[in-house]
Order: sequence, then C-alpha cells, then structure tokens
Amino acid sequence: MTSDTANKIGTSPTLKISAKAKAMKAEGVDVIDLSVGEPDFATPDNVKAAGIKAIEQNFTKYTENEGIPALKKAVAERLKEDSGLTYAPQEIIVSSGGKSSLFHLIMALVNEGEEVIIPAPYWVTYPEAVNLVKAKPVIVPTKEENGFLLQPDELKAAISPATKALILNNPSNPTGAAYTRRQLEALAEIIRAEEMFVISDEIYSKLVYDDFPYASFASLGEDVKKKTIIASGVSKTYSMTGWRIGYAAGPVDIISGMGKIQSHTTSNPCSVSQKAALEALAGSQHDVDRMRAEFQRRRNYVLQRLQTVPGLSCFKPQGAFYVFPNISGFFGKECGGMRLRNSYGMAYYLLKEAKVAIVPGDAFGADDYIRLSYATSMANLEKGLDRIIQALRELKPARKAKTVLLSNTVTRARKSAPVESGLALRMRDALTAEMDSHLGYAGLFEWNASINGVVIQLRTNVPHLNDFWMDNWYPAQLEPDFKPHGILYAVDGIPGREPRGFYNAETHTGILVNTDAYGPVRSLALGMVMDISESMLGTHALRGMSVEANGEALSLVGPPGTKKTELFFALLQSPGFRLHSSELAFIRYSGSAAQADNPERKLFLPANTVELRPSLAPLFDASKCENVVVRKEDCQDAACQRTDDCRLDRGSAYCYKASKDAHVLFDPNWLAGPTGFVRRAPLRRVFLLRNDPVSPAVVKLDPEEALRLMAGGEIPGLSRGLTAKVHPFFNPHLLSSSSERLELHRGFVRRLLQAAECYMFNSGVGSAGDIVKLVQGK
Ligand code: PMP
Repeated sequence: MTSDTANKIGTSPTLKISAKAKAMKAEGVDVIDLSVGEPDFATPDNVKAAGIKAIEQNFTKYTENEGIPALKKAVAERLKEDSGLTYAPQEIIVSSGGKSSLFHLIMALVNEGEEVIIPAPYWVTYPEAVNLVKAKPVIVPTKEENGFLLQPDELKAAISPATKALILNNPSNPTGAAYTRRQLEALAEIIRAEEMFVISDEIYSKLVYDDFPYASFASLGEDVKKKTIIASGVSKTYSMTGWRIGYAAGPVDIISGMGKIQSHTTSNPCSVSQKAALEALAGSQHDVDRMRAEFQRRRNYVLQRLQTVPGLSCFKPQGAFYVFPNISGFFGKECGGMRLRNSYGMAYYLLKEAKVAIVPGDAFGADDYIRLSYATSMANLEKGLDRIIQALRELKPARKAKTVLLSNTVTRARKSAPVESGLALRMRDALTAEMDSHLGYAGLFEWNASINGVVIQLRTNVPHLNDFWMDNWYPAQLEPDFKPHGILYAVDGIPGREPRGFYNAETHTGILVNTDAYGPVRSLALGMVMDISESMLGTHALRGMSVEANGEALSLVGPPGTKKTELFFALLQSPGFRLHSSELAFIRYSGSAAQADNPERKLFLPANTVELRPSLAPLFDASKCENVVVRKEDCQDAACQRTDDCRLDRGSAYCYKASKDAHVLFDPNWLAGPTGFVRRAPLRRVFLLRNDPVSPAVVKLDPEEALRLMAGGEIPGLSRGLTAKVHPFFNPHLLSSSSERLELHRGFVRRLLQAAECYMFNSGVGSAGDIVKLVQGK
C-alpha cells in the first residue's frame, strides 16, 4: 500500500508521453516525438572532454555538499557577466539538476499551508513540488492576448496573507513567453511592498531569440535581489540534460537551508558532471550561440507552418524551445468516430492518427493548447508538422446523431444512509406523519411491488426512485382497499435532516429520509421483504450470485475481494449454464428440495461490470442508468487517471467504469435471451468463496462448519480493507442483527445446508472451469 503522497502524484506527463512514443517506436511504429524537453544536440566537445578528464584524474569521490568551490565561482561569474549580479560563494548551491535545486528550494522556503503563486501555463513540476510540501499552489491564469505574461493587477489579486512566494519562469516552458525589464519592474513594484519571495526559474535565459533583451528578476535592484532566488542549470543551454547539474543563487539563509536538505537527499551532485559544468559555464560560449541560432531558425519554420493551418493560432515565443498553439478551434470536431473535447483528446488523436507525440496543454494548466518542442532535427519537424497538419485537416464538424443519449440519472446522495432497524412504534407514527406532510399530493408517487410474494408499497416524491422501482420489480395489485404487507417511504428535500434510514418491524414500515439514490431504496426493500418472509411466510433469502445448469442452481457466496462477479460471468459463459440471480434468492422448501426464486424483474448491476464483459456496453447504453460518470471531474478511478487514457477525453460521452456508485437496471433476458435466464430452480450447491494463493481450490464443508462460517460473515485468511464491514451471512441487506432474528435466520440456513451441498472455493487458485467440472460430475 503506497502513501497518500505517492497515490496523489502522477508521473510527469512529458515523461509519460515520450515513454509512450518510445514504446511505439520499439514496436516498429514510425513515431515523431515532438514532446521532448531537451536539446537534440550533442554536449559540446570541450564539456565532454572536461568530464572525461575528471574521470581519468579519479575525480570520482564525494565533493563539498553544496558543490565544488570552482564551480560555484563559475556560476557567480556567469551571473555577473550575464546579468551584472554579484553573489558570494555561500549564496550559491549546486544540485543534481535544476529540478533538484527547485525542490530543495521549495522545501527550504515554504511551510505547510502557505501559498505559492504560479502563473499558468506553468511548468508541470511547480504545483507538484508545492503540493509535496503540503503548501497550496495558487494558480493564476495568464492570457494569450497579454503574451502569457502575468499582469501586475493579476499578481496583486492573487496575493493573500498566506502568500510565501511567486514562481516566475522567464522564459517560460511551455509558452516561450519572456518578460522585458519594464514588465518585470511592474511586478517588482508589487513584490517590494509585500513580505514574499520570487523564485525566478531562469533555466532558459540563454535561449532567447531576435535579440530579445533578457533581464533577470534579481537584477532589478538590491531590495529585489534580497527577495529573489534564481534557479537555473546547464541542462538546456549546454545540451547537458543527462549530466544533472542545476544551481540556485539567493539569500544566504535560504541557500544554507537548501544545503542542509541536500545533505540528506542527494549529497553533492555528481563529481564528474560538476567538472563538465565548470567547463560549460567558464569555457567558450561559442556552442551556445550556435545552438541558439539553430533554435531560432526552427522556431521560425514551425511558426510559419502553423500559421497556414485554418482554425489554429499560435503565439510567437521569445525564448525556450517550445511553441504553444491554441487548438480549441478543433474541439467538437471528429474523425473516424473520435470526437475531440480537450487537449488530452487532441494528444491522443495526434499520437494515434498522425503518429506524432506532443504534450496536451492541460498538463500545464491550459487545456485549449498543445505544446510542440522544436528541440529536434529540422527533418523531424518537417515530417511531424506535415502529419499534424494533415490530421487536423481530416477533422470534420461532428454529426449530431453520433452521440448516444444515455438514460442516466445523477443523484445528489451516493452512499447508503445508515439504517436504524429498531424504530419504536411511537417514533414510527411521528416519522410517517412527517413524511406524509412532506409528500403532499401533487408530487406523490405510489406503487406496489410484489417481491417474493410480499407486497411493498413505495411512497416517494422522487420521480427517479419511482421510475427505477417500477422497472425493478414485478407489479402487485394497486387498489384503494388493498393493504400492502409493508410501506417504504423515500422522501427527499426535508430541511434540517441528515440522510437516514429507519425500520419498524411491527408495522413493517421502512423510512428513508433525504436519499435520492436508488441503491439504498432497493436495499431497504429487500431487507423488509426478508424480515416479512421469515416471520410470516417461512421463507428466507440467501445472498449470492447464482446460476443454473441441468435444472439445478448453484450460488456463489462471499465478501468483496473473492472474485464473485468474475466467476459468475465466467460460469455464464460456459455451455449449459444460465443466469439465475445477480444478488440474492428467496428459498422455500418443498419436500427435501430448496426452491430458489430470483425476486427481481431487472438486475441492478454495477456499471463497471462492463470491464468483465465488454459486450454488455451496448446493452447498458439502452438501459436505465444511475450515476454513470459523464464529467472527468467525477471520475473515482485513480488507476485510470494515472494512465492518462481517459475515454471521456477520447470523445466518449460517458464512462461506465469511472465510479463504483454507477449502476444499470438491466433486463436479464438481454443477456442470453429468455432461454438463458431462469427465475426458479432448486438450489443444490453453495460455494463459499475465499481468495488466497495456497489453499486448495475446492473443499467440501460439513453443514455445521459451513453454517459457522456463513453466520460469521468472515472468510479466514482474506485480507480486507480496514473499513470493510462484516455482514452476517454475507448479507448487507439483513435489517436486524438482534440475536433472536439472527437465530431465526440461522435456523433457515441450517435447513438450506441439509438440502444443498456446501463447498469452500478458493478463487485465488481455482477457476470457473473447476466449478463446471464439479457440477457436471467429471
Ligand atoms: N525549469 C524548467 C522551466 C524546465 O523546463 C526544466 C526542464 N524541463 C527544469 C527547470 C529542470 O531541468 P533539469 O532538472 O534538467 O535541470
């Protein structure tokens, strides 16, 4: 089990996308990768030679934690020469890459709960680094018409008493926007008046074009310098990404704080790389000029190609090596049935159709854009752009008829409300009077359902509950003088009341307050019917998923985590096996046989069942659904979110697997036709499920042992979540857990275990095939 920190964070999207592109290349697909954030040039020869020399001279041991003095001096001299800044050695630290500097800096500067202002579009790592120290990233969107530059009034509005710092990335990854001295001055005016710092990420400062007059934020004056920490590195300027050298310069207390943290994380950066970085910063800068000129040529080429594409606009970057075109003009268009909705959808489309890897703007906090890197050869750029432009041309306005109109109800409440089963008669009278007063006449829905021969009347003011109720059950008489066995109130919109459930056993009254989801209504109804059946009809229920073969039923019984649903669907796939019940069966005895009835007209299936049986999807499309996810924000599937392969992004209007709360009211006849479904069959076998790697697949249990295990509701050796509730007889719908009621239920199950054989089945070892063989006597 990984920590919350690990669970919350995703791998850097850029890394993920280039990994995908590499994997496709390995499979022989000719992918052009325009997602990379590193220069394609070789590290300059003089720099490489310095590294080799360091190895030859055995400069391969620990160095000073904050970096070798010669390199710190070279950093200071570079900052002096480039920006006229003076830093003492103790105001400089060298780290294992710019990322490492930034992370140590944020750890050394920012406290839990403090705020860090991050203009968007931002480099992907900033918010994650702030989150990792439990501080709060305050994202401030910048506008394309303002050149993606943070405006003074926007900065002012974002500052609060909790503000600790602003992260300024100049020039910016991903937009390439750079600030002139005057624009920085306007921001500095505000910073001067506040108690806050500026983290100035200047890693692209040498990569500016058209003679852009680059200025460092720290160079705006001594007062500003005291509030600024420059973060930079050699990765981009000297094509040294793999050498991992970054550095920071700022006030001595902050730098020494970073040093303390670094002494426990990485220690000194790589000794050999430090020597190479020293040569890069202090040696000839000829190669920097050469690379800059080439980047400028490529930037112009890419811009000129993109300008010809209708529906696309592209900001002209002043620095870095990315372009950030606005692709929102293509949203709503489609190709080959795939409809684009956002930048992830565009990234997926371009990878699949054009075989070009780019980074979706959403990763940088700007969903209307994509990022293309021109840190790749001119030949690659030509080919990549040819393909992108062609793929964009193929996008056509979407035809309206394509969308499936899902009959889906999204409810306010999701989880079952706790049910109090011992409601006293007096309280019941008061509560039903309150319910009736809220139901009134105009909005009242009333319907009698026959569930295992027991008639339950639903009284509700929620149309959706009435709709599902009428579909779920077989109808019973509904006449003025007909008295149902039980009444179930489901009343929503009562002010001042928590969602709660109640049951009074004397009058068979169920009450659900402020619940608009169907699951709790159905569960309480089943609980009421079980209670009434046991006390009045002498029949009882067994909760399990059951199938029928050769005229006999078998039931799979067990807690979550025992692959019950997998086995159920695998059995249904076996020749001769038919569907009996997906939830529970009511048992009545005739002679020695235990007749098992499925009381439901429609099955209430979790929508994520499509994962086990994809062919269900078109059938679900035509069924009534509840709480199927239609917006990415509502997705609860953390594993899916981490893979960046969201079907909502890829144009699907909904996702069946995104939430455990999503259900479908499903006609069992649709699964295998009327002959593939039986409502009644004698129950001959019960399979109690466990899931471990060592126990035997099938063990026959004697009836008393089976009864003991079922009554306990726990399977030995099964590791379960700490919060997983134990339900006697694995039945969460059983209403009363009083010893008297449980004793009555135990008596019924004892009788069942005389009529049916019970096996312990280990789904960690055995498969549905083992059950099939056992049933067929092989
Ligand atoms: N800052 C920005 C804005 C970047 O784009 C990058 C690299 N993508 C870095 C810092 C860190 O680079 P490195 O760790 O390779 O020095």
